[in-house]
Amino acid sequence: MVSVFKNLVIHFRTWIKFLIILAIGLGIIFFIVFSVYKPVYAVTISGKFLGYSNDKSELQDKINEYMKSGDSDHVAFVDIEVLPDYSFCLVKKDLETEDDKIFNEVIETGITYYKYYAILVDSEEKYYVSSYQECESIIQQLKDKDSENKDSISYVVKYETDLKEFTDTDTVVASLYVEKKPEVTIPQVSNSTRLGSVVTSINVNYNYVDVGINFRNPISGTVTSRFGSVSSIRSSVHTGLDIAASTGTPIAAAAAGTVTFSGTKGSFGKLITIDHGNGVMTYYAHCNALYKSVGETVNQGDIIAAVGSTGNSTGPHLHLEVRVNGVAYNPRNYFAY
Ligand SMILES: [Zn+2]
Repeated sequence: MVSVFKNLVIHFRTWIKFLIILAIGLGIIFFIVFSVYKPVYAVTISGKFLGYSNDKSELQDKINEYMKSGDSDHVAFVDIEVLPDYSFCLVKKDLETEDDKIFNEVIETGITYYKYYAILVDSEEKYYVSSYQECESIIQQLKDKDSENKDSISYVVKYETDLKEFTDTDTVVASLYVEKKPEVTIPQVSNSTRLGSVVTSINVNYNYVDVGINFRNPISGTVTSRFGSVSSIRSSVHTGLDIAASTGTPIAAAAAGTVTFSGTKGSFGKLITIDHGNGVMTYYAHCNALYKSVGETVNQGDIIAAVGSTGNSTGPHLHLEVRVNGVAYNPRNYFAY
């Protein structure tokens, strides 16, 4: 019984001795190995060897950081499609590691995306700025100045591989600002001496256009000269219709509208014109008297003037014209003469 125990103790001692020798042996081997070799990471990208890294985690952090913010301003991110692989190995102590070279080769494959903002006018890109605050400021300033185009200006965030040239907000505001056109108002006229303007150019159109107005005859009488005819007293085409009537015959407004001219106008003599809207006007020329002033509104049938023979006229008659946007059309298409 005692000898069995003794044997066990002897065996145990032998084992301890063996383990100690083994540990010392391994230690010597490790010492020899690591005095000649060092642990590094071989870095490859898609199987291509880039070099040895001394510090894998530092290199990885550096690459991750670069992908987040690149190396210049306005970078949104850098897209590196294939990231490197790392494998542990032992190399001779004097072999140089090339972490910087590896880093540069990896980021060379990256595509940099920039983030900035485009200022749009009617969805067309006009200017570029770097921040959303600048966009808001530009839009607010144009609103404050009541720019005509304030409702057509917007902005959009851009992620692009090319960086556009930025414009400062003051320049953008100054160049986009459009002064609001004043509301068109009918001039207020206190007396007939202040006259409006009138188009009297000889510009005729023989076609029929629907003006959407039911005109009434301003006077009754006999047609003495037709639209478009040429006569001895005129050097050019007749822009209206002549209706003979005695001097003083009241002339009624052919349709409702606003008096835009009331006064003497060259060969037209005493002329009154009525704007019926949508560019449609009627002219009453050679009058003896004018009863309405510029700016006055008239109803259909209101007496606006009296027949006469003023201007280039050989006898009392009404020269009646229908003009659309300044072009004379044949009154016979609109009146019952
Ligand atoms: Zn005439």
